[in-house]
Amino acid sequence: MRKLTADIIYSGNQTWLKDSVLILDTDGQILAIRDQAAFSPNEYEYFPGMLLPGFVNAHCHLELSHLHGLFQTGTQLLPFLNSVVKNREFDSDFILQKIKDADEEMQRAGIVAVGDISNKIDTLPCKTKSSIYYHTFVEAFDFLQESLADQFFESYKSVYDAFGTLPKTMVAHAPYSVSKKLFSRINALNTATSNISSIHNQECIDEDLLFINKTGGFVSFWESFGFSMNDFQPIGKDSIYYTTKCLNPRHPILFMHNTQSKQHHINSILNWNPASYFVSCPNANLFIENQLPDYSQFKNAIMCLGTDSLSSNWQLSILSEIKTILKFQSYLNLEDVLCWATYNGARALNISEWAGSFEVGKRPGVNWIQDVEQKGKTWSIKPEASVTKIS
Ligand SMILES: [Zn+2]
Repeated sequence: MRKLTADIIYSGNQTWLKDSVLILDTDGQILAIRDQAAFSPNEYEYFPGMLLPGFVNAHCHLELSHLHGLFQTGTQLLPFLNSVVKNREFDSDFILQKIKDADEEMQRAGIVAVGDISNKIDTLPCKTKSSIYYHTFVEAFDFLQESLADQFFESYKSVYDAFGTLPKTMVAHAPYSVSKKLFSRINALNTATSNISSIHNQECIDEDLLFINKTGGFVSFWESFGFSMNDFQPIGKDSIYYTTKCLNPRHPILFMHNTQSKQHHINSILNWNPASYFVSCPNANLFIENQLPDYSQFKNAIMCLGTDSLSSNWQLSILSEIKTILKFQSYLNLEDVLCWATYNGARALNISEWAGSFEVGKRPGVNWIQDVEQKGKTWSIKPEASVTKIS
């Protein structure tokens, strides 16, 4: 049994626990949360700084870890995607080693659960052994080609089957890359309403332009790969209207990136499906587009945080994502952003029965952040703060 305390404890669910002690069993399960006054100081371990639950990384592409440091920053999404597509030939031992390294990096950074996109089976050996909980989103796309939908579906179905009994869902990559026919094949596979789904959403202005009036960069982008866009019909509206028409609203859905999303988009999505989660990956947005979402637009949304992949980030650290958000949009409350990183991520991945908050019976992991400071009643995380996983 361990008894842990700190200058301040963040519960995960937007409350601060002052002068409290977490009592854990040897497996990290929370047995009780008690008043510090009930113990003498030699009975508990004291950590100067803040304790909070293990982080949930709601969006990653672990299989792209070998592309770390290869791409230029600030190029915008289409040149970035071009680099990813053209850099898929690497020695398989090297790929597997980089996946393992990235998994260990996330463990050290206090991440306990990951929503991970997979187009291939490269991450399977790592996920089978890792102490991190992974929900694998096997992500399909057909370059908006109805005639290729069946062929691509079958190829991703074999990846999906290979993940066996590990937590998984087959999902659509993005509105600009998935035909209606492929969406309906994916929907037919996901019959259980508990299946969580995900999609990349409104990552760049070209995505909306494609659906509004077939302008922007995507037409020439797909044609440069030999895929004709002659049959593509724009819908005269932003991409979310195609997305929400094609996805099944009976499933909880993670919308990733949302850099171009405005409040009216978010409200439309929430009216269509209240179980919609909005995952922000601020460092990746700065890496690729040199731009952040306007978080004031997301007041009604359930927000989560992700790192995206090492091909579009400098590291895989949720603490680093938190610091970036609070550096550039410091009007946000620390407790709200910490909630995105813990409790909301656990809800999105359907693991809140054990993860995301300090509650009796849960086993959420315990992170220790040093270098925090208090001004009045407000706590903040210093730029140099680091995280240590202590349970
Ligand atoms: Zn992504």
